[in-house]
Amino acid sequence: MAIKSKNLKISIGEVEEEREYKEPEGPTPNPDIADLREWDLKLLNRYKPKYYGFIQQCQFCALGHCDLSDNKKGACGTTLEKHLAREGLQLSITGASAHSAHGRHLVEVLIEKYGRNFPLDIAENTELKAPNIQLVCGYKPETVGDLERGLNYIEEQITKLASCLNVGTESSDFDYNSKALHVGMLDHVAMEICDIAQITALNFPKGDPNPKLVEFGFGCVNKEKPVILCIGHNVLAGASVIDYAEANNKDVEICGICCTALDLGRYRTGAKIVGPLSYQLPYIRAGIAEVVISDEQCIRVDLLENLKKLKTPLIATIDKYVSGLEDLDDENPDVIIEKLLSGEIPGCYLHDTEKLGEIAVKVAVNIKERKNNMPENGKTQNLNLYEGAIKKTSQCIKCGLCKKACPVNVDNQLIIQSINHIFNNKTVVCETSEKVIENKETVRVERERKGMKDGIKFLTKDEILESLGKCLFCGRCESWCPRQIPIVSVFTEVYKDRLANDKAKISPGRGAIQDVEIRNVGQPVVFGEIPGILAAVGCSLWPNSGKEVGEILEEFIKRNFIVVVSGCTAMAAASDYSGTCNLFEKYGGNFGAGNIVNVGSCVSNSHITGAAIKIANIFAKRNLRANFEEIADYILNRVGAVGLVWGTMSQKAVSIGNGVMRLGIPVILGPQGVKYRKELLGDIECPYEKDSEIFDYGRKNLGLLDRWKIYNTINGEIFDSEPAPLHLSYAANTKEEVMILISKLTLRPGDNTKGRSIKLSHYIDIYRKYSGKGRYVFPDDLDKFIRVEGDIPMTMSDEIKEILKANNWKPRKIGDPTIVKRMINQGF
Ligand code: SF4
Ligand code: SF4
Repeated sequence: MAIKSKNLKISIGEVEEEREYKEPEGPTPNPDIADLREWDLKLLNRYKPKYYGFIQQCQFCALGHCDLSDNKKGACGTTLEKHLAREGLQLSITGASAHSAHGRHLVEVLIEKYGRNFPLDIAENTELKAPNIQLVCGYKPETVGDLERGLNYIEEQITKLASCLNVGTESSDFDYNSKALHVGMLDHVAMEICDIAQITALNFPKGDPNPKLVEFGFGCVNKEKPVILCIGHNVLAGASVIDYAEANNKDVEICGICCTALDLGRYRTGAKIVGPLSYQLPYIRAGIAEVVISDEQCIRVDLLENLKKLKTPLIATIDKYVSGLEDLDDENPDVIIEKLLSGEIPGCYLHDTEKLGEIAVKVAVNIKERKNNMPENGKTQNLNLYEGAIKKTSQCIKCGLCKKACPVNVDNQLIIQSINHIFNNKTVVCETSEKVIENKETVRVERERKGMKDGIKFLTKDEILESLGKCLFCGRCESWCPRQIPIVSVFTEVYKDRLANDKAKISPGRGAIQDVEIRNVGQPVVFGEIPGILAAVGCSLWPNSGKEVGEILEEFIKRNFIVVVSGCTAMAAASDYSGTCNLFEKYGGNFGAGNIVNVGSCVSNSHITGAAIKIANIFAKRNLRANFEEIADYILNRVGAVGLVWGTMSQKAVSIGNGVMRLGIPVILGPQGVKYRKELLGDIECPYEKDSEIFDYGRKNLGLLDRWKIYNTINGEIFDSEPAPLHLSYAANTKEEVMILISKLTLRPGDNTKGRSIKLSHYIDIYRKYSGKGRYVFPDDLDKFIRVEGDIPMTMSDEIKEILKANNWKPRKIGDPTIVKRMINQGF
């Protein structure tokens, strides 16, 4: 029950003040799960789902499993398309829940520590503090306590959306897709809550374009000191350890893996960023840490299993990742320290951050002393798990199972045999007799299937090192190996010199984009004179991803794009382990042409969508408050932004991507992207139109246009547009394909002729450079993107005019574009 007066709402257990917000409220404050369905209809009418069912069965209910291949239906009546659309929704809910729960934890802890009225302080020179919250929820948060309101809304929506996964609670793949986009939008609100709470309370850089660079890489960790390694995404545990060490003058090395690492770097520039999540296993096995602290998200399931072998204690600090450990929160710190040091327990669950600092530091210092005092010839404790692993490669029987296991097709069998050949100085013996291998039949069948022969060509040492760049160190191959060869440990041992020298500098993350920066770039971005905004985010989990991401980003930085990164992709931009990227040391951090901006950890992705929203509000003066459809329509038609997720793993990438797409920004996924079940493509026909009434209804009653038709807001005239942006999500296979797509997906109907001409120059140039078709070719679809002669790049004018003539090209009208009928005659 709530009692409302003019400016004050009082409800049982809380006092919630209505903040002043002069901007008129738009049509969709706190939109419910179907309130933005008409916007999704416009998007999904243009961008059709192409589904990927690697497993064409459903085992979701007790009547399953149901074979859904060849148009067969399940016991509930579902089809494969609907099932895959539901799985897409499920992935998105999982990802958004991770950020929402993360936000709830952060806000609760910070309210307890600083009070509900602690004022939000997010970025210098900035009035528009929370663009996602203001756009979606329609209120302006001023204090940490105000963030609870957004969380309440998100949690209610996520519960409702999760209920749609239950059997018999949705029946249309269009609506599953619409709901998945809704979850994505919620995710950006959740991420914004997380990041503005921690920026405020932990005094992270506040939109500083050039925050102090932090040391990055395995080699930057000072192993002379006791090392405490934090893994995950929630910085509070690691920050409390830093606080304790500073207050008690303890000289310990605090470092991190994954987004916790970036946030520790934002908290104190002395914290070291070891690397991305993909390198978790080799880092752990290298015995880098005396104590490991886990928090939440993207932490390996077998972390404790590996740490036990090293006798390195694990302290789990968040109830979402407890790892089967004993809860010692109520225990005396001295008792906990003793239990951990004696090895009585392999670790503990401890969510009291007051105790955590003391326990982690004292245990780390003690273990370090113990290691230092260990006589060389009497070591009782393993210092790492890789030493001697190379010797075990002589056990290899060339069965090829490791190669079959690899999710990214690394020829690990060849690498293992080459390592054995070079490092053990002997060739492998092919043993397939029953005495050495239990699954002999499996091996025989597999070898026959692959047509494998015993004779192989070995790699040189340099080729081995080069090949290891393709390995994600996921460890899947190890459990397939019938000879229990610890393949990741072998690779780590071979790689150890390279790891030891792996050092670079990285921007830990500046947080939000300042309003003043948006004022500077709004016009050139919207008119197309800054050719695009490239936002590269995600896990960067793909063979050679560091190198390839670095090359992609540098290509576009040099072309005056604004390049934005976050999370593990920011780490890939800092170093590709060959020292050739180091983009943060080469380029500036302004949100401006030719710069690279690291916004921070995963949750800082909200500042990327926030920047696009700010362009619509600050530059174009579009109302922001609860006005999602209008702002998204503006971004879709005018802001040449593209998302890139080159190598991805987690479900969070799905929800983040859906949020980006609902805002009208296309996303390019790496080859693994199809594992997320679908692409949304602008050049295929839609299977769901066959059985969905909604598109007919939309065309008759809602002003829904044909695919590439567009309204002119000035007079309501319907005109032909170019296919821009061509796709809403697309899984690319190669770096070269990505390069070409980025330049094409930045084209927008709202480009002015000068901007369009600049963008087309880049498109043509990149096409010539990366298509493999030669230096003088033009893209096949070039004529589609030329509206008037003024769009033609000057330096290629004669040749392009010839092409246009050959294609019977006719000039088209350029209007003020929208796909939302109610935007006509609004006086923009
Ligand atoms: S560790 Fe993973 S990526 Fe590397 S070879 Fe093994 S299965 Fe492939
Ligand atoms: S699975 Fe093991 S034994 Fe088989 S080829 Fe790979 S490393 Fe050799």
